[in-house]
Amino acid sequence: MHSFLNNLGIKKENLGGCYGIDNWVGYGETIISINPATGEPIAKIRLIDEGEYNNITKSACSTFKKWRELPAPKRGEIVRQIGNALRKKKEDLSKLVSLETGKIYTEGQGEVQEAIDISDFACGLSRQLYGNTMPSERQSHRLYEQWHPLGSVGIITAFNFPVAVWGWNALIASVCGDTTIWKPSSKVPLCAIAVQHIVNGVLADNGWETGVFCLACGDGKTVGSWISKDPRIPLVSATGSVSMGKKVAENVAKRLGKTILELGGNNAVIVSEHANMDLTLPAILFGAIGTAGQRCTSLRRVLVHSSRKDDLITRLIKAYSSVEIGDPLDPDVRMGPLIDGRAVSDMMMALASVEEQGGAIIYGGKRLRGNFVEPAIVEVPGNVPIVSKETFAPILYIIEYSDFDEAVQLQNEVPQGLSSAAFTTNLTEAEYFLSCSGSDCGIANINVSTSGAEIGGAFGGEKETGGGREAGSDAWKAYMRRQTVTINWGNKMPLSQGIDFSK
Ligand code: NAD
Repeated sequence: MHSFLNNLGIKKENLGGCYGIDNWVGYGETIISINPATGEPIAKIRLIDEGEYNNITKSACSTFKKWRELPAPKRGEIVRQIGNALRKKKEDLSKLVSLETGKIYTEGQGEVQEAIDISDFACGLSRQLYGNTMPSERQSHRLYEQWHPLGSVGIITAFNFPVAVWGWNALIASVCGDTTIWKPSSKVPLCAIAVQHIVNGVLADNGWETGVFCLACGDGKTVGSWISKDPRIPLVSATGSVSMGKKVAENVAKRLGKTILELGGNNAVIVSEHANMDLTLPAILFGAIGTAGQRCTSLRRVLVHSSRKDDLITRLIKAYSSVEIGDPLDPDVRMGPLIDGRAVSDMMMALASVEEQGGAIIYGGKRLRGNFVEPAIVEVPGNVPIVSKETFAPILYIIEYSDFDEAVQLQNEVPQGLSSAAFTTNLTEAEYFLSCSGSDCGIANINVSTSGAEIGGAFGGEKETGGGREAGSDAWKAYMRRQTVTINWGNKMPLSQGIDFSK
């Protein structure tokens, strides 16, 4: 075992459920977390069974009644301490993220930093859960709205951001007065167990022994379904594939619960005839190859003006050939492995259909060894069927266009609507791209890549991406219930809209 695993409380065999500092459970099936770079086992995890799920949820719901009474700034203080505890463990936790997901160490550090940043944000937010006051149309009346804690929130997360996405949800939800039940991806359960140990330490220091932040490791079809069908859970925040989101949405809608859905993307950059190539090249490279193309915001499509295509392809091939592929913990490496063999097969299947759809592979695309692949550059004649689908792997499709309108249309005609960007120094193109007739995505950037969003803005996308928003701005409102209040402090009973009911 690596020493950083010991420092994080990871043992050879770990329990996968937790609802309080001393309440670790897990008497269901055993799974093994596999290092995607070597195929070797890292550690075992005992998943939870249905009885344990019920105990976890009961604890989260009963703790909610106490947690919501704690003044929001005091909840914020506990979250601030969680941020500091994450700071102390940043190096160890970043190494675990890198080991378990296969993302390179600097990206592992970036991921843990994101959770730290969110804790700072959430702490400040705990003093700013503002409601509006509106002028009442009735004399001696006051009209305002206030925001109350919602309940126990279910958080289902994807494998590719095993710490940050928990932070976006759980740290904001907790300052809002909610307790949380986290079902991480079964591909990366150790990151979740490590985070739970860190959080438990802070809760113990503050005298919170029961389920403020709960953990429920299990697979999607069982624990994920229990959460989405459970009427005790008013809100389910689910991050993952579109197919998973549709199942969760259906289950939650049947009981008229609320969802935040953060699903797949199919992100494009437009490289205009006015693009500054010195900015465009590194942005494309990080967008397409960062996290081995396994970010929801990964760059999948480059829509390039015909006058720039040849130059761009030449530069891209040169840049791709210099990318070191290998052990994600090696500081010289820029691309690690894909998460598992299935991801490799999905990539190979997509590439196998390129030719029959009128395209050509112009760089890479070979399986190297184990879960390692060469990133691929593929030229296609438009949004052919294979392009409209999100393949969660480093395939970059190049599509040529001749006028900016056409590029915006190509950008928008896929089913997903997460992140988009235009590289241009032309003001009219930039403003058009950002106008209501421009990009239809939740994120629209100028001269900035599709991936690598900051936490200060609300994060999420439209169409099949699910419509949810998380992290900054006013995304916190989804984790609370809004209450509109009217107070009559006078001695008459006027009705709204001037209705006279006295006769
Ligand atoms: P996935 O859909 O396979 O799994 C995501 C989570 O859903 C896992 O915890 C899984 O166990 C659970 N799950 C699966 N079936 C379920 C069901 N029927 N009910 C409830 N839960 C279920 O996704 P993945 O392979 O882990 O991650 C990759 C996908 O996630 C990509 O599509 C990517 O774009 C997306 N993603 C989106 C965002 C975003 O913010 N929009 C962020 C990260 C990843």
